[in-house]
Amino acid sequence: MEKLIELKDVKTSFFTHLGEVQAVRGVSYSLNKGEALGIVGESGSGKSITSMSVMGLLQYPGTVKSGEIVFKGEDLLKKNKKEMMSIRGNEIAMIFQDPMTSLNPVYTVGDQIMEAIRKHQNLSKAEALKKAIEMLELVGIPDPTKRINAYPHEFSGGMRQRVMIAIALSCEPDLLIADEPTTALDVTIQAQILDLMKELKDKLNTSIVLITHDLGVVADVCSRVLVMYGGLIMEEGKVEDIFYNPKHPYTVGLLKSIPKIEHKERLVPIDGTPPDLLHPPKGCPFAARCEHAMNICMEERPEFFNCGEGHKSMCWLLHPDSPKTELKGGVR
Ligand code: SF4
Ligand code: MG
Repeated sequence: MEKLIELKDVKTSFFTHLGEVQAVRGVSYSLNKGEALGIVGESGSGKSITSMSVMGLLQYPGTVKSGEIVFKGEDLLKKNKKEMMSIRGNEIAMIFQDPMTSLNPVYTVGDQIMEAIRKHQNLSKAEALKKAIEMLELVGIPDPTKRINAYPHEFSGGMRQRVMIAIALSCEPDLLIADEPTTALDVTIQAQILDLMKELKDKLNTSIVLITHDLGVVADVCSRVLVMYGGLIMEEGKVEDIFYNPKHPYTVGLLKSIPKIEHKERLVPIDGTPPDLLHPPKGCPFAARCEHAMNICMEERPEFFNCGEGHKSMCWLLHPDSPKTELKGGVR
């Protein structure tokens, strides 16, 4: 498998007047061509900031402090603004939660898709129009020759998200980063958009990073999942490991909070709030909310350890070197 992108120990901070907010505290992952990776976590876990760091779209006062983001063999952190602009859209595209704010209300969707196409490809107006209609068709917009002249407000939320996907894919990017692409949509439409992303991945061999707070969303689209918390990756594994054999208490907590259609169990939200990243805890970031927390969890950040093939967890509970005698209580 050909590696498309690799993050090596990326740290991103926001230097505010209160101090340094350590939003991403050392994230490493890699993604192959045509692969779909899910990044899951609550808001404030660092999952969006990690992707903004990749795209070169961090807002002031955010800065990537250290690490490498190697895309097709080159470090994106060494690229200048102009080079990043050409990579965005051409090679890496992004879609966000709310398609209404990303679409311009005063232009037709056709104009907006054609603009994206012509910005990156040397096509005549007629060729761009033809391509735009093809893209609308590809993402399942009915009657595209007519709908291409409609304005964003004439589309439903789900259809607008399809338009955004059409714009993102119109330049045939190698990597599509989708940040909560279905969060604003109702469940049926959400399923349709996820199916569409899966279909496009298979058809166009686009690699996908799907960012969501909802673990349930990644199951269909992604083959691998990262679970983030407190600016760090807590667990990484194949989708079936994460769902059926989770090794991190935070992942277990997330799984308990997914509604299941087949059984009507009570949903259990995880108690407590995420850590303050202005003063991140020195030990495990989840310790304050973890029912298995031990003394060492407060003192030392756990290392990532292998708990299966391609399966890693950052937790003292099952760590081979953990001093399990120092239990603080509440352990199973
Ligand atoms: Fe819980 Fe300790 Fe594991 Fe953190 S390291 S998740 S506190 S058991
Ligand atoms: Mg976010």
